[in-house]
Amino acid sequence: MSKIWKDISALQVIFEKGIRWEVGTGDLVRFWQDVWVGDAALLLRFPSIFDIARDKEGFVNQFWVGRGEGGYWDIKVGRRLQGDEVEGYLSLLELLHGVSVANGGRDTVVWHDKPRDGFSVHSCYSWHRRNRAGSSVTANKYKEIWGCKIPLKVKAFTWTVYLRRILTKSYRARWAHDGDILCPLCQAEEETVEHLMVSCPMVRTVWGWLGSATRLDCSFSSLEELWEAGRRLRRPGDRSPGAKISQSYIPALFWAIWSTRNLSLFKGNVPYAENIWETAVHCIVDWGRFCAGAKNMCFREGMFIVQL
Ligand SMILES: [Zn+2]
Repeated sequence: MSKIWKDISALQVIFEKGIRWEVGTGDLVRFWQDVWVGDAALLLRFPSIFDIARDKEGFVNQFWVGRGEGGYWDIKVGRRLQGDEVEGYLSLLELLHGVSVANGGRDTVVWHDKPRDGFSVHSCYSWHRRNRAGSSVTANKYKEIWGCKIPLKVKAFTWTVYLRRILTKSYRARWAHDGDILCPLCQAEEETVEHLMVSCPMVRTVWGWLGSATRLDCSFSSLEELWEAGRRLRRPGDRSPGAKISQSYIPALFWAIWSTRNLSLFKGNVPYAENIWETAVHCIVDWGRFCAGAKNMCFREGMFIVQL
């Protein structure tokens, strides 16, 4: 049997299983075993990730951290991802992107949607190929993120930022027609990923502070230029704890911007550049100690001081 036909018949079996779930609160639907996103159970689509997943029997809501649009998927694995697992993990996140667990509404069983002309092998195969091809291209460009010495959930978040796939107000406005698209930090411009992470005046100030405390060149004006500026921080082949820590600067600031933005949006806290900066410094110091192996580390007189 050719590769294509093997793929198609595998999918057909999955299609014929029949039911899928529409997730509301997510407390009735099993994350790995039930069909609730895409057309197959996640354990069939991502067997290698399922193998190393810490929670193999949990329900969907147990993998979702936070509330509504401010939340994110946190799929814990028992050890570091290796080889093809990295790509598998990325594809899984890509599949889950745009799916969030609602605060209300019950989980309901529905039958698989049938295409108008019955089951179509062609559309099924092109869907499959699209999913595979799309994820491997994106996985490659930002692969380095997965080697950074930072928590797994932050790696996943950083990757999502570079792909411009975090659920900003601008993104959300595509399906929720409430028209509120203003950036929660500056209240002046549309909250796109690029605005929130790169060009918002408030975050610009904080990037400037990070630039003074480190060697990060802050002349970037897009996420791609920021990615390149981040790569220039590292000398090739340098595996010292200092080099590992420098890889956490940008993810820490992304994480701090997102936390401050969510506290403002969902808790009504007034956001300040200082909040973002303090959170980022706290993350960099913590991750330096607990992930990158610095014996001791602190932030003093505008500098990160590392004791190896
Ligand atoms: Zn803004």
